[in-house]
Amino acid sequence: MAKTGKSIDDYGLPIYRRDKWTCQYCGFRGHDPVTFRFLSVDHVVRKADGGPDAPSNLVTACRACNDYFNRRSFSGFEEKREAIRERLELEADAFRRLVEPTLRRPEM
Ligand SMILES: [Zn+2]
Repeated sequence: MAKTGKSIDDYGLPIYRRDKWTCQYCGFRGHDPVTFRFLSVDHVVRKADGGPDAPSNLVTACRACNDYFNRRSFSGFEEKREAIRERLELEADAFRRLVEPTLRRPEM
């Protein structure tokens, strides 16, 4: 599967900041040290179709939406938007429960 989503390391923070750490497709918020890991930067016009790496062609997208669009077209997304976001929020909560104890561990 071709990966069109980029990590924060590829583009830095400007796109996430501009979009207020929110997936522009489903509204998932990746605004803390745990949930931002579930965000990616998506090309509105795919690179394969000539879309540039310019901010005007880049949006914050959660990994679930990014994955969805990598495999399907935009049609049909509207009915699934809520389910996609809810599933990712559950996943983020589970991940948070897993890592937060280690984040909060006091210095020894
Ligand atoms: Zn999303």
